[in-house]
Amino acid sequence: MSAEEGAAPVDLLVVGCGAGGLSVALSFLEEAERSGRTPRVTLVERAPRAERGGATRWSWVNVTVDREGVVDAGVIERILASHTDVDEPYFRVIEQEGAATVAWLEDHGVQITHQRPPFAMANDYGAMVGGGASLVEAFCSRLEEIPGVEIRYDTEALQLLTDEDGRVDGVTARGPDGLTRRIAADAVVLATGGFEGSLEAVTRYVGPRAGRIRPVVPGLRFNTGDGLRMATELGAATAGQFDRLHVQLVDERTSKPDAGIFGIPFGVIVDGRGRRFVDEGSATPEALNAPLAWSVWRDHDATASFVFDARAARIPGWGFLNQSDIEPYRADTLAELAGLIGVPPNALEEEIARFNDAVVDGEFDPAVLDGKHTRGLEFDKTNWALPIAEAPFFAYPLATASTFSYGGIRIDLQGRVVTPRGTAIPGLYGAGVVTGVWYGEYPGAMSVLRTVTFARRTGSEIASAFSRTG
Ligand SMILES: Cc1cc2nc3c(=O)[nH]c(=O)nc-3n(C[C@H](O)[C@H](O)[C@H](O)COP(=O)(O)OP(=O)(O)OC[C@H]3O[C@@H](n4cnc5c(N)ncnc54)[C@H](O)[C@@H]3O)c2cc1C
Repeated sequence: MSAEEGAAPVDLLVVGCGAGGLSVALSFLEEAERSGRTPRVTLVERAPRAERGGATRWSWVNVTVDREGVVDAGVIERILASHTDVDEPYFRVIEQEGAATVAWLEDHGVQITHQRPPFAMANDYGAMVGGGASLVEAFCSRLEEIPGVEIRYDTEALQLLTDEDGRVDGVTARGPDGLTRRIAADAVVLATGGFEGSLEAVTRYVGPRAGRIRPVVPGLRFNTGDGLRMATELGAATAGQFDRLHVQLVDERTSKPDAGIFGIPFGVIVDGRGRRFVDEGSATPEALNAPLAWSVWRDHDATASFVFDARAARIPGWGFLNQSDIEPYRADTLAELAGLIGVPPNALEEEIARFNDAVVDGEFDPAVLDGKHTRGLEFDKTNWALPIAEAPFFAYPLATASTFSYGGIRIDLQGRVVTPRGTAIPGLYGAGVVTGVWYGEYPGAMSVLRTVTFARRTGSEIASAFSRTG
């Protein structure tokens, strides 16, 4: 090992340059500078500079807050009711501090807009202007200006270091020259994202068929579960559901990043036999997508197609709903369309005929849950039920793609990594998706909010310790 063992420890070492790592670093520096000393902070990031930012860089970053920045209390209650293992104090913090998090982001040049798309949404979401890339660029630029801060790209943390008493006091990291070095630090933050970028880890935790779930964007390939591995090697507890990923439906034919297909509530979805299997109108486009994507992978051999007609394709915002760079399959008849998506022609024709016959009269309105439904089917559609009758007919073949893993390490409300009995491991912190909190349904538009809310707290916690030792 080529060493930096003689070098004085940095005050804070952060592993990972996504929303979690960057927010801890910035929050720490803002608090620590009040002590009058210049703290030294090092961030190590596996990606090259041009790809810095992990999942955050590619994220839309919808945020479940209203125009005043207040977190939707109904969403918090749904999370708390979703599973007995949900960490209620954690989500109460998000409820209380979410508005301050949004204000802090805005103070640091990250804007949240409340423009609504022209179709129904489950909540009054905000959205980050420019997506997560705007956060990554704003925060990295700020950090690079601050004396004492260094970001080492192309550098991957391998292992946590401890002193003889078990206090974490640094990491070993492999740099672009292939050599490993020790970086000594008074505090180490793991902010390495999830394990969704590792086929090995996804297969181990989610199951043998999980290899058919592709990462939704290239930035996820850097997230290979390293923080989880390093912390559990030291006895950290885990939290969150390990056999579940957050997923979405994409166009199966393309390698375009984030080719999401969200229009399904305004058409129908069929399996490999040409059969419907769900109420496509049971939820708004963004709320239906993740549970449906999971069901397609788990229950339908990862094979399904979204079928719609010319009338649906004229719905305002259609291009926003369906983000593929490849035109959908197009045909003048349903039998021809069936051939293109590889389902038996008779089956698709019969299924759509049954569906069309069951559509009840009523006014179609994509901007609200319109109640326009079918009657008498095994899977009745409860909103937006229009006959699929106007040629040409279209279809997107679908694949299930991952956005993040649920399972991770357990932290306390100060961001300290804890053991199964709740003891904080001295010197070790976690931020973002590497910390597991989700079980069952992730409600959407919460991952960056929870990441930044807790990363700020963690930065403050480490700064308090820094100030005390001054
Ligand atoms: C397409 C897409 C859309 C999304 N939309 C939303 C949305 O609308 N709202 C929302 O809230 N969330 C959304 N998310 C999820 C959200 O973006 C992420 O959960 C969040 O940004 C994760 O932040 P993070 O800091 O934990 O991880 P990341 O941003 O993934 O950062 C982890 C970093 O750690 C680095 N790293 C990993 N291992 C090592 C190592 N050993 N050494 C050094 N560096 C390492 C990686 O290179 C990466 O830069 C979306 C995600 C995707 C992919």
